[in-house]
Amino acid sequence: MTQAKELPHVVVIGGGFGGLEAAKRLADAPVRVTLLDRSNHHLFQPLLYQVAMAGLSPADIAAPIRAVLKHQQNCRVLLAEVTRVSLGSREVHLDPGDTLSYDYLVIAAGAKTNFFGNSAWARHALGLKSLDDAVEIRRRVLLSFEAAEREADPDARRRLLTFVVIGGGPTGVELAGGLAEFGRVVLAADFREIAGQSPRVILVEATDRLLPGMSDRSAERAASQLQDLGVELRLGERVTDITEHGVRLGDEWLRSSTVVWSAGVCARGLAARVGAEAGPGGRLVVEPSCTLKDHPEVLVIGDMAHFVPPGSERALPGVAPVAMQQGRYAARYITRRLAGKETPAFEYTDKGMMATIGRSRAVAESGRLRMTGFVAWIAWLFIHVLYLVGSRRRLIVLFQWTWSYFTYKRGARLITGERAWERAQLLARQAEQGPHSGSPYEVRVTDVSPTGASERAAASSHPLSAEPGEVVIHEATTTGPSA
Ligand SMILES: Cc1cc2nc3c(=O)[nH]c(=O)nc-3n(C[C@H](O)[C@H](O)[C@H](O)COP(=O)(O)OP(=O)(O)OC[C@H]3O[C@@H](n4cnc5c(N)ncnc54)[C@H](O)[C@@H]3O)c2cc1C
Repeated sequence: MTQAKELPHVVVIGGGFGGLEAAKRLADAPVRVTLLDRSNHHLFQPLLYQVAMAGLSPADIAAPIRAVLKHQQNCRVLLAEVTRVSLGSREVHLDPGDTLSYDYLVIAAGAKTNFFGNSAWARHALGLKSLDDAVEIRRRVLLSFEAAEREADPDARRRLLTFVVIGGGPTGVELAGGLAEFGRVVLAADFREIAGQSPRVILVEATDRLLPGMSDRSAERAASQLQDLGVELRLGERVTDITEHGVRLGDEWLRSSTVVWSAGVCARGLAARVGAEAGPGGRLVVEPSCTLKDHPEVLVIGDMAHFVPPGSERALPGVAPVAMQQGRYAARYITRRLAGKETPAFEYTDKGMMATIGRSRAVAESGRLRMTGFVAWIAWLFIHVLYLVGSRRRLIVLFQWTWSYFTYKRGARLITGERAWERAQLLARQAEQGPHSGSPYEVRVTDVSPTGASERAAASSHPLSAEPGEVVIHEATTTGPSA
């Protein structure tokens, strides 16, 4: 349907938890809605680690935004990256150079992985924020197993089977538990040479406890369930370096070929180009009505907002229920304002927190209620299936989980992307060399593929070959005697 031009125009940036909820709740309002997102899908981030651990496929946890909103007559969806917002002229600027005017703007562009300025670490540690990140973790974990299966040297094999997760929040806990379980299940079932070996999974957390948003008791339960799975906890220890060889904690090197970073997020770059006050982590500071100061027509919600409830000292956490409730509030605020009515300040209803640790293991709390183990795990499954977008997706996920529960199998163990064998070979070469191995060669590997564009360096005694075009590998420096 062609949108009536005279209706007020609401632009929503981001089709995540907050933005999608706001757009949907405006279905019956006398407005034209334009939802902009740089990706074409709504992503259910709480299940990303399941894709990383090959339990689910990307399509199981992501829904095309266009399909979700196809019946909403007053809403159009555009695939576009917003590069800037001009608050004065009420315009959003899109890549590549278009502009859109708005009467109301809802900014819900989310957060990104925060390496706290250590850009070198970002080259070697994998974040988990998008489907691409999850598929890359899955690929790296599976490649490490493949390389270990071919590796004769026990030390190098050990390094390939060592996985370090940094950050003891819900994502770190889920990943560490998932890795330990994945290693057991996949190694035993699929690999001959390394079948008897358990992977070493280390969870590093700078504070002295896990799960900062939860009670001490839940944190202790989570720790003991992780330890039951064989996860090594390094609490109260700070990472001082991350290289292609592993992670450094003070004087100690944890040699590992797969390092996952889940130690923090910050607002996406767009926040800095809105021209409004930013708080911790670059989040935009908002009023009790979720609006920007002096701009009652602009709401910022979800992970991009720094919202401190009146009377509290702490900002609301970056979790899906906050984003969804603020999305609903944004729609109500706009509708009431158009009708000339005031809207009371946003109030968050905290329904509790949960984290899963593995099969039949989880912790959950809501008010005074505390759950652990199987009961908490069932609650976790139920809530996550309930909030997935689309009934077909819910059924598929339920089926996959039931199937995995009884068969111990993971269906999505695919290594995608090109030249898997070569990556496995590279990992194996790195594994043979420690951080201070005195290797005769330093081999620089420059990934010039359109999606990669990253540069990695590896110490190797065997220069590797490559076909031109995608991966270029050359001897850069001779640091020792020539071979
Ligand atoms: C691995 C992981 C596990 C999590 N687990 C849980 C959990 O168990 N429970 C829980 O409650 N929360 C969890 N969270 C947090 C939760 O997912 C977020 O709080 C929630 O997604 C925030 O919603 P949002 O709408 O603010 O942002 P998002 O859902 O991140 O959506 C932002 C959208 O904006 C789009 N976008 C970004 N920049 C631009 C731009 N410049 N132009 C156009 N579009 C743009 C993005 O493509 C995205 O679609 C988890 C997060 C992660 C990463």
